[in-house]
Amino acid sequence: MTYYTSTDKYDFDLFVIGAGSGGVRASRIASSHGARVGIAECSDLGGTCVNLGCVPKKLFAYGADFGFGFSDAKGYGWDVPEISFDWPTLLQNKDKEINRLNRIYEGILKKNNVELFCGTAEFVDNHTLKIGDKTVTADKILIATGGTPNKLAIHGAEHSLVSDDMFHLEEWPGKVAIIGGGYIAVEFAHIFHGMGCEVDILHKGSMILRGFDEDLRIKLCKAMRDEGINIHLDGCPSKIVKHGDGFDHNYCLHSDAGHKIECDMILAAIGRSPNTECLQLEKAGVELTKSGSIKINDDYQTSEGNIYAIGDVTDRINLTPVAIAQGHVLADNLFGPQTGREVDYENIPTAVFSHPPIGTVGMTECQAKEKGIDFDIYNTEFTPLIHQLSCRAEKTFMKLIVEKKTDKVIGLHILGRDAPEMLQGFAVAIKAGATKSDFDRTIPIHPTSAEELVTMRTPKVPAD
Ligand code: NDP
Repeated sequence: MTYYTSTDKYDFDLFVIGAGSGGVRASRIASSHGARVGIAECSDLGGTCVNLGCVPKKLFAYGADFGFGFSDAKGYGWDVPEISFDWPTLLQNKDKEINRLNRIYEGILKKNNVELFCGTAEFVDNHTLKIGDKTVTADKILIATGGTPNKLAIHGAEHSLVSDDMFHLEEWPGKVAIIGGGYIAVEFAHIFHGMGCEVDILHKGSMILRGFDEDLRIKLCKAMRDEGINIHLDGCPSKIVKHGDGFDHNYCLHSDAGHKIECDMILAAIGRSPNTECLQLEKAGVELTKSGSIKINDDYQTSEGNIYAIGDVTDRINLTPVAIAQGHVLADNLFGPQTGREVDYENIPTAVFSHPPIGTVGMTECQAKEKGIDFDIYNTEFTPLIHQLSCRAEKTFMKLIVEKKTDKVIGLHILGRDAPEMLQGFAVAIKAGATKSDFDRTIPIHPTSAEELVTMRTPKVPAD
């Protein structure tokens, strides 16, 4: 049953620019409510997440995990013959899987009667778009064009690559330098290291993963260093020098603090920027913020009333599931029977697929302090059972932040094997307002690492 009755004044009731996760969700939900929907995509269906981000990155991370798994297996009696890694095989298999997902996205659009236009859309006016030699009109237009990796602006920057390039690398490097200390830097450090490369990270800050809980940042940095990743802090990249023949490595990355990192490949993972360049936004009167993202109000409406924007192009919380939630809510509000739905931005869980990985939800200790909350900390650090026999010196660290007044768990942070998988369920509990007493009366599943989250009994003694 559909609710929306279109007026026929325009070719479409909704036209979506960008068939990534957010755009596709918005288009199919709008269509399910009875709207006539078109969508334009200039590249492969599924956007960054499917093609150049979350999914292929996770496949690579699984690949890297095997690098650790083979040596861990020896303690369990496995006789592991000499191993070797073939990058083209992984690349081909990854491409096959991504192709399968592209076809699934195509199927979703077809099944939901969303008309697909292959090409780059640009505004002619606030109701008209041009896609190649086609012109379409729409009552409402949604910009869901995502973001694109930032490029370095230093001498020799042309010798550096960005995360997009990692998914089609022709040559496998022996030694990689990664610039940045965010999600992408840390995750690709795991990927390259797990697959046998020597890895250096150069980060301008004093610790990796700004914004995450301080304990996790410090412990992950130590764990990565213990595994053999060289992490250089407090150094801004200053230039890249390409060597001539006769050097072991092709490039040298310099920092303003005097670092000189010899390597075969440089990955700049220094953040992403909204994709607005080709849209001709000025023709539609859509305004940008100072940082170049599309300016929206709480209803995802841009400065032009009939044009909306969601996801990374608005540079708010740049996570795929957030864009999907925004697209769904927007389509419901514009075309569904019930308006006024909102995305709940409280307690959004997130994961970093580093080694070991991170799963986190709620406030960090710093944030709780800044808000003046009176809280207790419960934490634990242990060797997960699997590593008692593998003999890998890898720990799991868990931390709960509990508001004293309400007994509510307001922050939950895990660094360790399977942290992202553990975290999702606990995120539901925290969303539902679980208290420490709720955690305490939950019977643990034994033997698991997750059971430690419900068996911490004594708060940490605060440091003076
Ligand atoms: P981030 O913003 O997470 O990190 C960028 C890093 O680069 C920071 O450490 C930053 O330092 C540093 N940096 C910024 N500018 C420069 C510069 N000019 N020179 C040197 N260093 C610089 O971006 P990423 O590129 O890692 O990831 C982009 C986005 O993609 C993230 O916002 C995230 O939301 C999303 N993402 C999510 C993933 C997940 O959910 N698992 C995985 C991958 C990406 P400082 O912090 O000190 O400013």
